[in-house]
Amino acid sequence: MPVLPDQITLEIVTPERLLFSGAVDEVSVPGVEGYLGILPGHAPLLSELKIGEVMYRQEDTRTYLFCSWGFLEVLPDRVSVLAEIAERAEDIDVTRAQAARERAEKRLKSKDPETDFQRARTALERALARLQVASKASPRGLAAGEG
Ligand code: ATP
Repeated sequence: MPVLPDQITLEIVTPERLLFSGAVDEVSVPGVEGYLGILPGHAPLLSELKIGEVMYRQEDTRTYLFCSWGFLEVLPDRVSVLAEIAERAEDIDVTRAQAARERAEKRLKSKDPETDFQRARTALERALARLQVASKASPRGLAAGEG
């Protein structure tokens, strides 16, 4: 009988950098058909990623990242997230994301026939996902700071 792996080796990369590489107990990613929750021993699959939140869990600690488009490869003991853009929750500039949200909302209300609504909708989706992920940033950075 095949032995089930008890952890997953997760790698999260963008064309620019490696954001995470290590052993985790669980991963959740925004697949194009909805969020995928992956535990060790998951059946192999390939999926496209959409805009959303990547979460990985190591024991009781959950870490959150924003991602925007890319690919996901799942093997029973390995998950690779290849994202076009990804940011750790702690690295998200909340003021910038709020400004992007306001810009996009204004465009979506515009009566200007030149408005690219699809572009405004995806900009809004990115901004909202960034704000959601940023709200889950670990307080560790703050606790360690001068606060
Ligand atoms: P903006 O309108 O503020 O540029 P955007 O959604 O159009 O937002 P993207 O095209 O998704 O931006 O990203 C462009 C680059 O800027 C990427 O490297 C991305 O990581 C970075 N970036 C965008 N918004 C933020 C943010 N709020 N915090 C941190 N990095 C950001």
